Amino acid sequence: TVRTRIAPSPTGDPHVGTAYVALFNLCFARQHGGQFILRIEDTDQARSTAESEQDILKALRWLGLNWDEGPDVGGPHGPYRQSERKHMYGQYAEDLVTAGHAFYCFRTPEELDAIREERKAQGLNPGIKGDLELPQEEVKRRLDAGDPYVIRMKVPDEGVCVIQDMLRGTIEIDWAQVDCQILLKSDGMPTYHLANVVDDHLMGITHVLRGEEWINSAPKHKLLYQYFGWDMPELCHLPLLRNPDKSKLSKRKNPTSINFYERMGFLPEAVTNYLGRMGWSMPDEREKFTLDEMIENFDIQRVSLGGPVFDVEKLRWLNGQWIRDELSDEQFMERMHQWWFNRDDLQALVPHIKGRAEVFSDVAPMAQFMFSGMLNLKPEDFAHNKLEEGQVKRVLQFALWKLEAQRHWSKDTIFADIKALAKALELKMGDFMFPIFVAIAGTPNSWSVMDSMALLGPDMTRSRLRHALD
Ligand code: ATP
Ligand code: GLU
Repeated sequence: TVRTRIAPSPTGDPHVGTAYVALFNLCFARQHGGQFILRIEDTDQARSTAESEQDILKALRWLGLNWDEGPDVGGPHGPYRQSERKHMYGQYAEDLVTAGHAFYCFRTPEELDAIREERKAQGLNPGIKGDLELPQEEVKRRLDAGDPYVIRMKVPDEGVCVIQDMLRGTIEIDWAQVDCQILLKSDGMPTYHLANVVDDHLMGITHVLRGEEWINSAPKHKLLYQYFGWDMPELCHLPLLRNPDKSKLSKRKNPTSINFYERMGFLPEAVTNYLGRMGWSMPDEREKFTLDEMIENFDIQRVSLGGPVFDVEKLRWLNGQWIRDELSDEQFMERMHQWWFNRDDLQALVPHIKGRAEVFSDVAPMAQFMFSGMLNLKPEDFAHNKLEEGQVKRVLQFALWKLEAQRHWSKDTIFADIKALAKALELKMGDFMFPIFVAIAGTPNSWSVMDSMALLGPDMTRSRLRHALD
């Protein structure tokens, strides 16, 4: 039976690209009466967080993309989190060493740089496959001495690797361009390539649908399947989503977190519908369809490779169609009520609101910005007696950069970032905060903007700062 998977790394916000790839994997599996699996690839322990994993699971569920097996629902091939499987991978790497398909490598990064420079100076290809492997006696001596090492796979020096892709047909990649990938790091942790191949095999994955950014990894994976003597799943590389200007979708130009779309009050059905239009269309080309209708009509061969554009304006339009055509007045009320009041953060606002309101009718105007998308700002709103226009822009730009890099979103971390920036720009906190207040709340007369940013979340906060800079 067909088994597909989505294998997100929990290193950030739930990306629309992840949801898009998950959707196509889900449709492909369902259409063939197969299973769709969710596996968390958290071998990069420095960058992975439990918080991000939770967010990804929650976002996919919100979109209605449910999996048959996964870390939360279990299944016969668990655990479904690579950090809980980490004891398994070492033996596979050792087996490859024993079979002569991989080797211990003692080269330090400095040595590798030196060899690369040396080869460049001699006009040679900077690839250094031959210089990585030491003679057997030397390996033994270094092992006995307890020197740290990694395990690398052997890769042919020349020739062509031929990959079959369900959408692209035959892809040829020169082996000369493929490096002797590290499989096991010196701390014993596997790299993505080893863990991904081992798990796809052990979990019985038959079809790997993933973003085209992974095409260059395919030769390594193909070789690993060969070395292990396992059947390789069919590969299908989906076109990457693009910004309206055709560049690769990036959070600098477009909100890329599913959380943003939830926060903005999009209907999950409409977002899923729109993701289904990314490179794919219904046989009758209709724009509005449900997940079930997509599954029923799914055909992977209808995916077109021209880069699909993720355009928030089009998504808004489609969402409007859903609201008008699919929701009765009663359902509209109910869904809006849900969006408005079921938010965990409403409670956190209460102390602020109570501290300022005299009657209930004061609440809506003062809390409006917490329930809005982009604010309607005019240049005059940023006029300030101590900051010139250039400084205002600098404050907003630096705050945006700093908060784009912030991976742990809380009032305290935001406060620390802002304080450090105000100091670096030699501005008083009060003056520094002014443009930020206006960008986030539309007015300097609101409660603590740190609280507001913490509650609005990273995506809405960054989008508002960006919007204020436009
Ligand atoms: P950004 O460029 O906005 O910082 P990113 O490329 O750094 O985004 P990652 O955190 O690397 O995003 O990716 C998260 C997940 O989203 C990965 O699984 C990746 O495959 C997927 N992804 C990222 N960009 C795209 C895209 N343009 N189209 C489809 N999937 C994408
Ligand atoms: N963990 C990888 C990612 O974050 C999975 C890539 C794949 O599907 O092989 O996208």
